Amino acid sequence: MPVTIEKEPDTAPFRTREHCCFCFKATSYWHTPKDVAVCVDCAEIHEDDEVPTKSAWCGSVVERYPHLKTDRYGGHL
Ligand SMILES: [Zn+2]
Repeated sequence: MPVTIEKEPDTAPFRTREHCCFCFKATSYWHTPKDVAVCVDCAEIHEDDEVPTKSAWCGSVVERYPHLKTDRYGGHL
């Protein structure tokens, strides 16, 4: 069964595209139960169980894009 995702509303304030937890492509789709970004392509080929926790996802995004640690999280991670 594919991962359940919802598109972030275009009207959301401070709207930013986040990195998909599987392929790290920028997406505006989210797996809301875990509050983790999942793109449309990956949602189709993965299952809910495979979606990482929010902290694991943030950790792997920062590992891949070290500059985000200071730019986005102010070095607090
Ligand atoms: Zn993806």
